[in-house]
Amino acid sequence: MTVSNAARGVGTNWAGTYTFTAKRLHYPRTLDEVREIVSRSPRVRALGTRHSFNDGADNDGDLVSLADLELDPVIDPAASTVTVAAGIRYGVLASYLQQNGYALHNMGSLPHISVAGAVSTGTHGSGDTSGNLSTAVSGLEIVSGRGAVISVTRDDRDFEGMVVGLGALGIVTRVTLDLQPSFDMRQDLYDDLPWDTLLGDVAAVTSSAYSVSLFTNWLGESLERVWMKTKLERGEPSTMPEVLFGAHRSSIEREADYDNITVRGGVPGPWSERLPHFRLDATPSHGDEIQTEYFIDRSNAVDALGALRAMGEQIAPHLRVAELRTVASDSLWMSPAYGRDTLGIAFTWKNEPDAVARLATLIEAALAAYDPRPHWGKLFAMDAAAVAPKYERLADFGALADRLDPDRQFRNEYLERVLGI
Ligand SMILES: Cc1cc2nc3c(=O)[nH]c(=O)nc-3n(C[C@H](O)[C@H](O)[C@H](O)COP(=O)(O)OP(=O)(O)OC[C@H]3O[C@@H](n4cnc5c(N)ncnc54)[C@H](O)[C@@H]3O)c2cc1C
Repeated sequence: MTVSNAARGVGTNWAGTYTFTAKRLHYPRTLDEVREIVSRSPRVRALGTRHSFNDGADNDGDLVSLADLELDPVIDPAASTVTVAAGIRYGVLASYLQQNGYALHNMGSLPHISVAGAVSTGTHGSGDTSGNLSTAVSGLEIVSGRGAVISVTRDDRDFEGMVVGLGALGIVTRVTLDLQPSFDMRQDLYDDLPWDTLLGDVAAVTSSAYSVSLFTNWLGESLERVWMKTKLERGEPSTMPEVLFGAHRSSIEREADYDNITVRGGVPGPWSERLPHFRLDATPSHGDEIQTEYFIDRSNAVDALGALRAMGEQIAPHLRVAELRTVASDSLWMSPAYGRDTLGIAFTWKNEPDAVARLATLIEAALAAYDPRPHWGKLFAMDAAAVAPKYERLADFGALADRLDPDRQFRNEYLERVLGI
């Protein structure tokens, strides 16, 4: 086991926009080493690959990274599942699964994130009938309060409360995920989708491929780009039109400038290299950025998008890009898609903390009528008083955390501020 140099501190999140206050960062190699750290630390939390934009993972004591945990993925062909060490990155897992003839149902835009860090915050890709990444979890091993090890599966009573756990229940050491047979996909990019066409029938657009992402700067009469990921039936020829919903094939399908994104232009390829937007071997997104994201019931899409378009002139100067994606409803207590088919409205901002904080408050006010839930891993202004009414199982989640973590070893300022637990 290695421990980071305390004198240098733990460092920052991936974007460099948040500096951790924790004193030590541990890299255990075995389950027993994780238990040992938890047994002796009064303040301890898991750290994933640091791709969140807030203080969710932080505390004033010990952080534990599972990046070095020794465990090769174990595929169970009969159950169609894979069990992995919690710190494995999605991109590494995806290529392993592809080589073995299996697939995950979806991935986030970046393959760089850890499995446990992603499922703990309800990270999602896109697709009208596709749940977020947490919905693929069928089993967890957690080192909980005082170093106790618990293993749970979907049959356990509180399982649905444990998956989107926000690190509050302990350190997830193993995750079991549902698999399906490997499949091929193609990606096609289109430019200038008229807002009127989208708002005329949002579902027609978002259901027109396995995964649809819509990019906008909130100005003008068209959205800048549509990104479609289509599942291919083996052996079947596949074509996509030059014009789709009034949008035209994008010129960036051919430009080498966009080399951090996965292969587009309709070229067939494995799911593992088409579902993520970004390539594992390149820097995703921009790097120098802040992200915020809100989830609303899809039935409110037209009105909520209208409210945001009305703020276009305020938003655009500070924005890099906004992305709209769909997520299927689920029953995980703390999932942002709990109980409702969801539209995710994500903002990638320039690294301008003051402007982003101001705009987050304004956007939350503009969306208030549509009951927005924040992305747990991104920046938001809402506090526990605003968040609590949005999660009907929050009290159960708090009780679960009290039971598994009687000494409050995993609690931090974020959980108190945002959930009041
Ligand atoms: C460029 C970029 C693109 C992104 N794209 C998307 C996207 O497409 N969709 C989306 O939904 N989000 C997206 N995000 C947000 C990101 O997916 C989430 O913030 C995710 O939680 C990051 O995972 P991580 O491994 O970095 O976890 P961290 O940020 O390190 O930790 C997140 C939380 O998980 C907890 N945690 C981590 N590991 C464990 C563990 N082993 N046991 C218990 N708790 C644990 C931490 O304590 C913390 O509370 C993006 C972020 C970036 C920077």
